[in-house]
Amino acid sequence: MFDLHTHNKIADWRNNAIVNLDIDDNLASFLHFSIGIHPWDVDESWKEKYEVLKCVVDNLVKQDAGGFAAIGEIGIDRLKGGVTEFQTYCFEEQLRLAKSCAKPVILHCTRAFDLVLASLKSVQFEYPVVFHGFRGKPQLAAQLMAKGCYLSFGQRFNEESLKLAYKEKRMFLETDDSGMDIADVYESAGRALSISPTDIVVPGIFTS
Ligand SMILES: [Zn+2]
Repeated sequence: MFDLHTHNKIADWRNNAIVNLDIDDNLASFLHFSIGIHPWDVDESWKEKYEVLKCVVDNLVKQDAGGFAAIGEIGIDRLKGGVTEFQTYCFEEQLRLAKSCAKPVILHCTRAFDLVLASLKSVQFEYPVVFHGFRGKPQLAAQLMAKGCYLSFGQRFNEESLKLAYKEKRMFLETDDSGMDIADVYESAGRALSISPTDIVVPGIFTS
């Protein structure tokens, strides 16, 4: 069972999960991790935060750090966080950073799919894109997958969207900050898909 996105930093969870870290975490102790500036943390001083992130990422690239799985979670949130314009600038800088080191991105997107898609296009981002915590309707799911994006589902999700993503081989599962066990997320996805949780297969972009 693979947890695409978790904030749980307890040891037992690490092996088969991408742990989302902050720039001041001890990176060396995680097998797989993502790192980035969360849209909620973007304010007028985002450039300084970005410079710190860039330094950390430059070092990871220099060390050829195996655990460095993705830049994330990054994105745009119209309901929460700072001014949308700052969020967009910061998001696009981080997309450029991910592009420069050939890494996938794990995206946080709330009521901003139009902006996020526009940014991906303007940066000409060509590495895997995963929308985490996806709860949208099948129509949106189809639209994002048609652009080559992956979708990750957690505690709550739209069943039809999950089924569609699974059929398209673009479905991941995650615990995020729920505190749940990933086995329970697999359990509920299995119920929705009418298959055994142990038979669920996720794309191999992070694991193979
Ligand atoms: Zn998260």
